Amino acid sequence: MLRKTLSSFPPLFLPFCFAASPAQLQPTPEDQSKTAMSTKVAVVTGSNKGIGLAIVRALCKQFQGDVYLTARDIGRGQEAVKSLDSEGLKAKFHQLDINDLNSIITAAAFFKDKYGGVDVLVNNAGIAFKVADTTPFAVQAEVTLKTNFFATRDMLTHFLPIVKAGGRVVNVSSFVGSRTLNNCSPALQQRFRSEDITEEELVGLMQRFVDQTKKGEHKQGGWPETAYGVSKTGLTALSMILARRLSEKRPNDQILLNACCPGWVRTDMAGPKATKSPDEGAITPVYLALLPPGATEPHGKFVSEKEVQPW
Ligand code: NDP
Repeated sequence: MLRKTLSSFPPLFLPFCFAASPAQLQPTPEDQSKTAMSTKVAVVTGSNKGIGLAIVRALCKQFQGDVYLTARDIGRGQEAVKSLDSEGLKAKFHQLDINDLNSIITAAAFFKDKYGGVDVLVNNAGIAFKVADTTPFAVQAEVTLKTNFFATRDMLTHFLPIVKAGGRVVNVSSFVGSRTLNNCSPALQQRFRSEDITEEELVGLMQRFVDQTKKGEHKQGGWPETAYGVSKTGLTALSMILARRLSEKRPNDQILLNACCPGWVRTDMAGPKATKSPDEGAITPVYLALLPPGATEPHGKFVSEKEVQPW
């Protein structure tokens, strides 16, 4: 009826029928905030270079929503955003130092406020001492576990509550963590593989490793001589614990959380001899970040080359 009435008007007349004042055509701040709330958002930690930057690059191409490149250093982060811009890719930026609790809390509040939470979180930020580094092992242990395990756990503590239904969480761990698990004492292996290990018990074990390195007692404690390996064993085990908790506490939200290995990737961390380019290293993390709606697995797994690996 309305269509018939309108079609009887000369075409040129129609725009004037619905003319609105310029002020009415501008979206109000409320409209803008509603639009942002319904926009999906992906956040990648430590993404100013290396695998993290490649993950952001791939998400800019494949993810239907805003993609946040985050970095602890604003200058390095903005440079990286510019480099993607020169490839025609539009990433957004937010400062995020995972070793700084205030930075984590500020970022989580920002995403909650602007988007109502996050849809994809990739915990990629990590560090490794070079093999030739002569820093005492106890210091390497404390510093490495601080970022790779304890700070990544802080990220998960503050971001998991704001991961939206249908969300995807990816923790970039390493096959080195699996190899390290196999080199732990049978008692430690049993705990890391058990389905009843709690987050508190795991945190206690990670702290015990750091404490024992200070007394030179970690070998007797059942640990192999690798701080990076232990940090990633801890991160993979933490991923499994948190995935079980999500299934228990938010069973209807269909959030999938996994740990993964990107492979051996040519970055500042692994050096130029590694076999994969950063874009190739991003493939498995991005696969997990973009598991389609309705997927029920993998969840709480360690994934490499897009395949669930034994733990
Ligand atoms: P890079 O050293 O190239 O990049 C590491 C990134 O993490 C950098 O952006 C760095 O920022 C950031 N970062 C470090 N500490 C923090 C922090 N406290 N807060 C925020 N960001 C931080 O390493 P890769 O790209 O190779 O490594 C990425 C992830 O992949 C790591 O978790 C690593 O353990 C894992 N991995 C890598 C493998 C490889 O072969 N490359 C193999 C298996 C796993 P900044 O520039 O400021 O230092």
